[in-house]
Amino acid sequence: MAVNKGDYFDELETMAPGTRQKYLDNKLSLTVEHAYKHAPAVKKLFDGCGVSPGEIRTVSDLEKVPITRKTDLIEMQKSDLPYGGILTIPPENVERVFISPGPVYEIQSPEIKWFSKSFWAAGFRKGDIVINTFTYHMSPAGILFHEGIRDCGATVVVAGTGNTDLQVQIMKDLKVTGFVGTPSFLMTVIKTAEEQGYNFRNDFAVKKSWFTGEPLSPTIRQTLENDYGISTSQAYAVTEPGGAIAYECEEKSGMHFMDDYVIEIVDPETGKQLGPGEIGEVVVTPVHSPEWGLIRFGTGDLSSYTTETCPCGRTSHRITGIVGRTTDAVKVRGMFIVARQAEQVVKGFDQVSRFQFTVGREAQRDKLVLNLTLTKDVQDRESLQNEISSRFQSTCRVKIDGFRFVEKDAIPEDAKTIVDERDWT
Ligand SMILES: [Zn+2]
Repeated sequence: MAVNKGDYFDELETMAPGTRQKYLDNKLSLTVEHAYKHAPAVKKLFDGCGVSPGEIRTVSDLEKVPITRKTDLIEMQKSDLPYGGILTIPPENVERVFISPGPVYEIQSPEIKWFSKSFWAAGFRKGDIVINTFTYHMSPAGILFHEGIRDCGATVVVAGTGNTDLQVQIMKDLKVTGFVGTPSFLMTVIKTAEEQGYNFRNDFAVKKSWFTGEPLSPTIRQTLENDYGISTSQAYAVTEPGGAIAYECEEKSGMHFMDDYVIEIVDPETGKQLGPGEIGEVVVTPVHSPEWGLIRFGTGDLSSYTTETCPCGRTSHRITGIVGRTTDAVKVRGMFIVARQAEQVVKGFDQVSRFQFTVGREAQRDKLVLNLTLTKDVQDRESLQNEISSRFQSTCRVKIDGFRFVEKDAIPEDAKTIVDERDWT
């Protein structure tokens, strides 16, 4: 593929929407056909649900296929070592094996530019000296990021994890311009440098950063950008289906779907695809990697997506950030409420000291109630309710049906954020 390294890493990033849909549909149907033919586990999966590979012609056809989750993959590999029947090539042709917790064994062919686009979009270029603080052991992180940084022409400092003092010295000595790691590790590095008497902004050359592995909080982002003059960028990566799923552009407003993955946001209970703005599980099918027959991998992460045009010119849809795990979510009137999101809303009100949501049923309808303990006597409870309601609805897209003001002891300090009291029997 011709690589035009201007604003974009390659031409796939700016495919017209119709072309993109055709591109994905075509790659998906080839991937499914190939996997069915060469991966015994995929044949078993399709035969088991009575779907023939020929029925999967478009992304929306994928709904017919059950989701494979990490726990399934662990069991599949345990009973059919080492790859669980999803390898489609002779094992002697495997160049690399990575190990994820489980353990889960994954393979990768180095030709695939998994992370390059993401680093390019983060502004990494020739002349940059980039410290890679992800581990090079077992997990794919270290070596894959390393290659992605190299694809952008930058120099990589092979640092790996830990040794904060030494990392500070390396960054100073080598005049490192780019940081790759977790946001919390960069904050630790900065703090350590400051404890050693440095002024990080003036004494160090770090101007760009790229994160994955943990969410970048808006507060840390602001601190890094405003106080330290470091541009920030993040990517969403999942190892089992092979790497970078989505990445931020300079707009920093959601993460673009990586071109060679079919990404669905689905109802985790039914596997049905959801529309823009609806929160559901991120399900991934890599279509770049014919040797790895992983169809519909359920990540367990909850997100939503937007189809709005991005001013950067990239045309893929964007996920709007990972809001939680499927295990932390409760479905209310068909919409998932994620504990973390709900907490963020209510914690924004300092009149509230403790709170808990309860979900019940009344007249065949889910009823969401917010129980509150107030820090002080609030005169105008109604306007407090209205304000919480409106912020909650715009964040979680579900309406709170009622408020209950309770004594402090009624809600324990370590109370669960959302309690499901519905009885379906
Ligand atoms: Zn963009």
